Amino acid sequence: HKFEELGLDQWLLKLCWKIDYKEPRPIQVLSIPPLLQGNNVLISSQTGTGKTAAFSFPILQTLSQDPYGIFAIVLTANRELAVQIAEQIQIFGASVNLRLALLIGGLSSSKQVKQLGQIPHIIVGTPGRCSELLNIDVNFQKYIKNVKYFILDEVDRLLEPQIWEDVKNVYQQCESPQIALVSATLNNVTQQLKDQFSDLQFIECI
Ligand code: AMP
Repeated sequence: HKFEELGLDQWLLKLCWKIDYKEPRPIQVLSIPPLLQGNNVLISSQTGTGKTAAFSFPILQTLSQDPYGIFAIVLTANRELAVQIAEQIQIFGASVNLRLALLIGGLSSSKQVKQLGQIPHIIVGTPGRCSELLNIDVNFQKYIKNVKYFILDEVDRLLEPQIWEDVKNVYQQCESPQIALVSATLNNVTQQLKDQFSDLQFIECI
């Protein structure tokens, strides 16, 4: 397979070349086209298989066509993962002047509120801090309504009741986002996810 076959814009093809992604990983072949078509997906994939590009390229492509408002929220289980994902997305989005806010615990909330005031295109964060900021920041409450993509990375680690409460608090304030869930395992997680999110297309990557 080639990146050219997946429906990506020219600037993203150039990006792949520049960052030396010579060919798409299986997860990218299977996930990028349905995401570009607007489907809600549950992707099963181990870490390290290329999932960040799989969900970020479609987001960035849509964003580059309509750069308005907070565009996407990516929630993940812990701070380290959030930092890694944010760093990758910053690299992917550098040429389209991407504004990204990293909303994680352990960093100053007031700085994060300031970042939110600049209306980032993409938020990467942990459910606890995002939920906390949503409760105090009316600006965030206003903009989150129009979020176009809601991504849960390593969703199998977000299903614990306390964390899930925060995930739901964030999700319920987005009015009609497209959904992408990434999970290392599908055992035990599928029913809970089906109950919460409708019309999930399953994409299994072995
Ligand atoms: P991830 O699963 O998103 O954490 O990605 C794991 C590693 O694979 C990261 O270092 C990515 O930069 C790299 N990667 C992702 N997709 C490709 C690709 N198509 N070609 C080469 N490296 C890739």
